[in-house]
Amino acid sequence: MTKKIAVLAGDGIGPEIVAEAVKVLKAFKQDGLDIELEHGLIGGAAYDETGSPLPEATLEMAKQADAILLGAVGGYKWESLDISVRPEKGLLGIRSQLNLFANLRPALLYPQLADASTLKPEVVAGLDLMIVRELTGGIYFGQPRGIRTLENGEKEGYNTLVYRESEINRIGRVAFDIARKRQSRVCSVDKANVLECTELWRETMTTLSKEYADVELSHMYVDNAAMQLVRAPKQFDVMVTTNMFGDILSDCASMLTGSIGMLPSASLDENGKGMYEPIHGSAPDIAGQNIANPLATILSAAMMLRYTLDQPDFADRIESAVSKVLDQGLRTADIFSAGMTRVSTAEMGDAVVAAL
Ligand code: NAD
Repeated sequence: MTKKIAVLAGDGIGPEIVAEAVKVLKAFKQDGLDIELEHGLIGGAAYDETGSPLPEATLEMAKQADAILLGAVGGYKWESLDISVRPEKGLLGIRSQLNLFANLRPALLYPQLADASTLKPEVVAGLDLMIVRELTGGIYFGQPRGIRTLENGEKEGYNTLVYRESEINRIGRVAFDIARKRQSRVCSVDKANVLECTELWRETMTTLSKEYADVELSHMYVDNAAMQLVRAPKQFDVMVTTNMFGDILSDCASMLTGSIGMLPSASLDENGKGMYEPIHGSAPDIAGQNIANPLATILSAAMMLRYTLDQPDFADRIESAVSKVLDQGLRTADIFSAGMTRVSTAEMGDAVVAAL
């Protein structure tokens, strides 16, 4: 059956990098990939056209689609707008409307780019880690929350960390299922020695792991996890954690690779439907110059093929093609180093298509 993909290019470099990922997806049509691409507006581009960063038509298209490919939103032009119509609202809106509770952030360092990291090459070369972050619960959403004034006139800020067993189980399942497609190891990160909520997190993960006897489960406190990520990141396969811990650890992990233009991400709902996007923003400083790195977006398309469209062979072909173009010495400006060949956004996309 034809799979529908909503393509939301967004702002800044969004249209340039998404065009290259679309090139790659279209190249598979002749090999039998049955997809239909529909294009919609989001972010500042949508605001300019319709007055809303997430027009009803885009939301409807996203709901009807099997998967969504997103570029990035935002830019200087819209920074002075009221917060309710800023481009970023479009992104948050689509995530919550589609109930995308599982955020998958791989940190993969191609050996060819080991010098791009601030860590020693031997510590990071070959790094291939997947962080699974709970995205719609925890302390970012827990009630009650606010800032109140106490009887003595002093102000107090407060938030609530709350997770139900059902929420922990559903993110746990995502992590265990992904581990089965990788090295079958899950490290659950919590602060069970201090926070009751994450004591329940640990207990629930342990109980759930009995359904996944083929996957090895370990637990780690978040402070140690932060340390281990920069000490010996290659020890991890899949890491699963709460919204806030995942927010922090995934940014840390992504920078191990040193190249923001290389990293894809996915946000999934309960049925495996997902939105796929590079982890970087709209890079307004380089927009329209045909110099942005499209590989994070191309690799997001590979994740889409693997996790939502269940086409691992096509996903493998994209990932190998990316490795091949790096072997050929092709580099966009952000990952360029002496002795390599500098290419534009479009030339990089063409090279990946040629290497498929
Ligand atoms: P950014 O990720 O857009 O850019 C940070 C730096 O990395 C810039 O120097 C940029 O040129 C560079 N960069 C980013 N992607 C690149 C690529 N593919 N190739 C080469 N270089 C690349 O972050 P920022 O500058 O903090 O934010 C710019 C805008 O993007 C803001 O409006 C912000 O709100 C928005 N933003 C959107 C998303 C999203 O859509 N998911 C995420 C983060 C930021």
